[in-house]
Amino acid sequence: MRKETLFSSNQLASLLNALPDPAFILTRSGRYRAIHGGVDTRFYHDSSPLIGKTIHEVMAPDRAAWFQREIETALRGRAMHIVEYSLTPGDIQGLAINGLSCRLWFEGRIQALDFAVDGEDAVLWVASNITARKELEVQLRRLSEVDALSGLLNRRKLMHLLAEHFDTFERYATPMAMLIFDIDHFKRVNDAHGHLAGDIVIKTTADVCRRELRNTDAPARLGGDEFVVLMPHTSGEQAAPIAERLRQRIAESLHALGAVGEGATISGGLAEFGAADASCEDVLQRGDDALYRAKRSGRNRIVSID
Ligand code: GH3
Ligand code: MG
Repeated sequence: MRKETLFSSNQLASLLNALPDPAFILTRSGRYRAIHGGVDTRFYHDSSPLIGKTIHEVMAPDRAAWFQREIETALRGRAMHIVEYSLTPGDIQGLAINGLSCRLWFEGRIQALDFAVDGEDAVLWVASNITARKELEVQLRRLSEVDALSGLLNRRKLMHLLAEHFDTFERYATPMAMLIFDIDHFKRVNDAHGHLAGDIVIKTTADVCRRELRNTDAPARLGGDEFVVLMPHTSGEQAAPIAERLRQRIAESLHALGAVGEGATISGGLAEFGAADASCEDVLQRGDDALYRAKRSGRNRIVSID
């Protein structure tokens, strides 16, 4: 008996076209054989010009190689294969660009087909636009890692980085210096000029760190008026003049604030990872000891500890 079909072939074509996300039929060799759905131009480019072309023709070699690998993985595993990737319109030549000009993020759900297309194994690759979710992820990560007042890394991120660098140091003996510093007599600023003036002093100190340090250095606010600067690939000896210059620049910038920053300086302790360290806490402890000595010996100075 002939099986009843619910839809006519015209209706089936229309149904495929109504799929919210674009579904590509890609062969093992990376040829786009068909595309269905994904017609909302607020979310998707018109990908129809790609049909008949291969990923190698329209993408840079490294991007094409990545797509090729993922197709292979889906074909080998047979189960649905899920990937995340980003594309800019420039990544794919021949795409009709209409309004979508920034980097877009996609989740690819790739399923091997159980029939051959043009005599080749093939996959169905559904590409969902997840850009909004990705941007939110980036924003949330930033919020969880950055101190709101100073814009520097927060304590949580600092401790994470410190532990990472300590692992690298233990494995490869890569040196790392750490400066921990604290604003001198900061309570006086708050008491004399108010909490908002104190906040300006903290922000100015952070600005100097961003301006004066290398991109690879990581300045962080530990809390209150206490800061830490991680200097990867830098020995304590190399870090000493950098810390000294930072001390001077911060004093100059706080002085330039006028009455609020009048006489505001910093004291710091400088330490580096050492062979005897059991954990990254040890270097923090040494830095803290050095900072304490700097405070005790008159403030406005950096003390180094070997
Ligand atoms: P010292 O020279 O020994 O460091 O003395 P100090 O006055 O700087 O004292 P300390 O470092 O112990 O105190 C830091 C003060 O910073 C205490 C607290 O009221 C203030 N503080 C902490 N967080 C903030 C903040 O976010 N904004 C402002 N304005 N003040 C803060
Ligand atoms: Mg202080």
